[in-house]
Amino acid sequence: MTQISRLPGIGRKTALRLVLHLIKDRQENTFALAEALTKLRSQIRYCTVCNNISDTDVCAICASPKRDRGIVCVVEDTRDVMAIENTSQYTGLYHVLGGVISPINGVGPADLKIESLVMRLNAPGAEVREVILGLSPTMEGDTTAFYINKRIKDLPVKVSTIARGIPVGGDLEYADEITLGRSILGRTLFG
Ligand SMILES: [Zn+2]
Repeated sequence: MTQISRLPGIGRKTALRLVLHLIKDRQENTFALAEALTKLRSQIRYCTVCNNISDTDVCAICASPKRDRGIVCVVEDTRDVMAIENTSQYTGLYHVLGGVISPINGVGPADLKIESLVMRLNAPGAEVREVILGLSPTMEGDTTAFYINKRIKDLPVKVSTIARGIPVGGDLEYADEITLGRSILGRTLFG
């Protein structure tokens, strides 16, 4: 029960309800869940191009011939990729940082996939012409956007931001699909 109540959004009461359910449920169902969890954790992989969660070397988005290879949207984590994909307004690729710069939480630029973004833009044959900074308008998101802009501003790519339409201090993940879709289409130059 302690293990279950450690999960986000699960209090002790809910944990107890889940445990009682797992005990009452058919044994094979509980074992199947345990096996699925072990598999989830041991087989999880990240796309070697964009760092999105993937079960293959290169994720389905990076591998798709339908996506525009000239645009890369930089986001904090996989949840943001899902939120933007749900808008059906974006056809470019992504770059998942795996977090944002947060000195309070001990997260610096080196802990994030920022160098791999720079390398990706500099790679021979790279076709990227625009980088969209799709980070939440929080202090950490702004700091991260500022840092990335500084690192890539001398490269021949346009740097834009989706800030418009997302409430300041808001989380990308919680923006509604129409607002998020509009803020991608109506992106502005960074700076
Ligand atoms: Zn990918």
